[in-house]
Order: sequence, then C-alpha cells, then structure tokens
Amino acid sequence: PSALRSLIVETPRVSWSDIGGVSHIRERLREAIEWPLLHPETFARLGVQPTKGLLLYGPPGCSKTLTAKALATESGINFLSVKGPELLNKYVGESERAVREVFAKARAGAPCIIFFDEIDALGTARNDDRTSGAHEGVLTSMLNEMDGIQELQGVIVVAATNRPDVMDSALMRPGRLDKILYVGPPDARGREEILRIRTRHMTIEAGIDFALLAQMTEGCSGAELTAMCQDAATLAMREDVNAPYVSRQHFEKAAKHVRKGITREMVE
Ligand code: ATP
Repeated sequence: PSALRSLIVETPRVSWSDIGGVSHIRERLREAIEWPLLHPETFARLGVQPTKGLLLYGPPGCSKTLTAKALATESGINFLSVKGPELLNKYVGESERAVREVFAKARAGAPCIIFFDEIDALGTARNDDRTSGAHEGVLTSMLNEMDGIQELQGVIVVAATNRPDVMDSALMRPGRLDKILYVGPPDARGREEILRIRTRHMTIEAGIDFALLAQMTEGCSGAELTAMCQDAATLAMREDVNAPYVSRQHFEKAAKHVRKGITREMVE
C-alpha cells in the first residue's frame, strides 16, 4: 500500500493563456525546467550541468502552482504534486518511504516535474527540537534522492514556498534547488490581464473598464483578483437573483472592498 493517500502523475490542463501577467517568468521557467528535461543531450554536448531543482518563492496566491502546471502542460511534461506537510504526519519511517515513493513514481513517469508545495514545512531549521525527528528524516531522504538524480534523468524538482527565509540551507546547495525564482504579485498590466481572463466565462456588461479595475486593485494577488470577480457576481445576484449579467458597478464595488492580504514584508 502507498504511504501517501493520493499520488498521481498527471498531465495538467493549464495553458499559458489561462494565466495573466507571467510572461517574464515563462522564459525563465522554460530554461530551468524544459531545457534539462527535453534537451539533455545539448547540456552534455556543451558541457553544462543541467538544473536538478528550482525554488519558486513569493507571496501566496501569485501563480507559483499555476505557472509550473502551465509549463508542464505546454511542454508535454508530467506533473506530480506533493504538499510538504503531507509527508510529515506519518509514523516513524513512513515519511522516508513516502519520499522514495514520490521519486520512484516520477522516474516511472519521466519526463516529470515533482512539485513540492509548502516545502518550508520540511526545510525549517532542523535543530528545532519539537519537530526535528520527522523533518530530519524527510529532508535527508529528499536530499539523497536529489543527489542521485544524475542517473534518474528526466525528473526535476520544483519546490514552492512563501517563506524562503526559513528554508534549510542544505536544500539550497548546488546540485539541489540551485535555481531560485521570485514570483511576485502582478503589476497593473498583469492585473488587467488576469481580470480579463477571469471574466472570460462570465456574462458581463459591455465596456467594463479593466484598466480602472486594475488600478483599484494594486497589491492584489491573482488569487485575490479571481475571488474579486466572484464577489462581483455575488453582488449582482444579491440585487437580482435573475441578474442577466454582472455590471460595471458591481465590479467597481467588489474592487473597492477587495481583500489585500499581501504585506510589504512578503514582497521583494
Ligand atoms: P500558494 O502560495 O498559496 O500555494 P500559489 O502562488 O501557488 O499560491 P496558485 O495556486 O498558482 O498560487 O494560484 C491560486 C489561484 O489563484 C489559482 O488557482 C487561480 O485561480 C488564481 N490565480 C493566481 N494567479 C493567477 C494568474 N496569474 N492568472 C489567473 N489566475 C490566477
């Protein structure tokens, strides 16, 4: 039996056109992930060491997961997603087995990305007594697997965190998570793009001023903008359960009350 409840290699179905404001990350991700997975022979010929792992960091809801999935979708790479904390709440020895299982599955599904979300759960200071037992084991198994990746061509680890400050430095050594990419909140143009994407399947009043809404939502994450569009629709229904469309006024009201959870400490 598997040590993890659900561990499935999938081909995600997120395309770049579903994500707004990430064009600058896209090329960096292709270089770091697609090149080593799909063109290993070029690395060998040129004599460069391909990346084994990449760390995506930045505030919550700013498309770390989505961009990794889009890359996988568009390059035909498989995707295996694991949350850091899932690996921890296990009996002694189970965690290590779970980590080995993750890598074995990924190898079988190569070319494959292993997406470790909330990696900080594993990487926090290992000398913290309260948690050290389980963390130490999981982290060590992970490092072992990564150090062995040379032979297991076709697997790349992409780890994501909101808290790069608490990452264990052992994970960040060369040959492990050696590429680091900041994924920040969208700028005004990015927000406008996200709002357009998120309203594509909504019935909305003609002539909505997306540039204005983008201005009103400075500091919002993609997740918050997505929630805002839902809020606008809820406002429309509150006014009229048979509302034919979401109006400009609903969007502006939702934008005025939008949740902005990203604090200054979280951004670079
Ligand atoms: P966390 O750190 O909380 O795991 P994350 O950075 O991985 O967050 P995602 O899971 O990629 O964020 O985004 C959460 C949700 O927010 C997505 O499922 C999507 O609905 C929406 N979203 C985020 N960014 C974008 C974007 N750039 N374009 C469109 N939708 C977005």
